[in-house]
Amino acid sequence: MERERTIAKTVSVSGIGLHSGANARLTLKPAPPGSGIVFFRSDRAPALPIPARIDFVSDDRFATTLCRDGVEVATVEHFLAAVYGLEVDNLEAWIEGPEIPAGDGSARLFVELLTEAGVELQGQPRPVFSVPRPLEAVNHEARIIACPEAGANLFLEFKIAYPHLQISEQTFQIKLSPGDFRREIASARTYGFLENLAGLEAEGKGKGGSLANAILISNGKIINPEGLRFPEELVRHKILDLIGDLALLGRRISGRVAAQYSGHFLNHQLVREMSKIMKP
Ligand SMILES: [Zn+2]
Repeated sequence: MERERTIAKTVSVSGIGLHSGANARLTLKPAPPGSGIVFFRSDRAPALPIPARIDFVSDDRFATTLCRDGVEVATVEHFLAAVYGLEVDNLEAWIEGPEIPAGDGSARLFVELLTEAGVELQGQPRPVFSVPRPLEAVNHEARIIACPEAGANLFLEFKIAYPHLQISEQTFQIKLSPGDFRREIASARTYGFLENLAGLEAEGKGKGGSLANAILISNGKIINPEGLRFPEELVRHKILDLIGDLALLGRRISGRVAAQYSGHFLNHQLVREMSKIMKP
């Protein structure tokens, strides 16, 4: 059995949040075995622990927001994807503001931060949730299903298409490992459609968004002058989001997860189904 891991030292980074536009400093600290990933708002006293667990999700419309006793930490999914992708089980994430920094809109900032911190093996065996039978969440055309799979790995596959916005089908699949996460997934950026920006603004979201931290698409064309990092960067980012949402189970997952047109809402539904049958 594999052992749990934490980070070897305390590290920090600052940046603005994608939705709030607020600047915040994120500090990661090592944590004891069995403690999981726990957020703290260092600008609040006392700083209550907000576990990165599905039970603390308060909003899933544009990003994943966690909340405890009215205190929120927003847009946690890219950070949690990096933590899961690099196989860190236990750490404290202290955030001096309402939202995790956006970085360049991918998980690159967090991969660099975790790499700087280094990973340290701990004494305790790492518990794994092996998907025991098909589990599914469906909403019209959108669907996500988890199935058993031999071996201790997590296999992910995703399909998207936005025909009305002139983006044709993209698919991607991956057997997750830290190396493949770094190479294939971590640098895929979040994206938005110019046609949808008014709706985002009306909700008071996207205030920190720019071409420096998101791909912007209009009429099927990429606005960013540098273009895409991968031909199918959009669906790779959907896998990044999915990893961040699956991390909310609070346990390594062994199985196959296949999604089409899914988003945070359905991803969380699937994690709730897993959580219901997970042994403590
Ligand atoms: Zn995302």
